[in-house]
Amino acid sequence: MHELPFVMKLLGETDAVASQQGFQRIGRIRIEVGALSGIEPECVRLYFETAGEGHAAEGAELEFVVDPAMLICETCGNEFAHEPERARAEGEDPFICPRCGRDGRLKKGTGSGARLLSVEGQ
Ligand SMILES: [Zn+2]
Repeated sequence: MHELPFVMKLLGETDAVASQQGFQRIGRIRIEVGALSGIEPECVRLYFETAGEGHAAEGAELEFVVDPAMLICETCGNEFAHEPERARAEGEDPFICPRCGRDGRLKKGTGSGARLLSVEGQ
């Protein structure tokens, strides 16, 4: 349930952008969400609908961009995105280095954040 504090932070940031840019209202917001952040876009949407009332971003369209976790190959040092859904669909092991076929490990801190990417307003 850490979506609510995240939504409150977003609303503060979008209000600040609106006043800096002179937007009457914000139409669209792009948000980057880390694959391992534990933040559910659908929860963000729900909180946004209620918490957004009275803010510049009230009723704005939310677009989510996934920031994948990165793996680093212990053998060749290759860094690659952890894409478990794509790998599963293609029958691949999502932890295996695509360059040399050895095991990769999680690169610390990747895919763990969530942040405002851009704001479109009028
Ligand atoms: Zn490798």
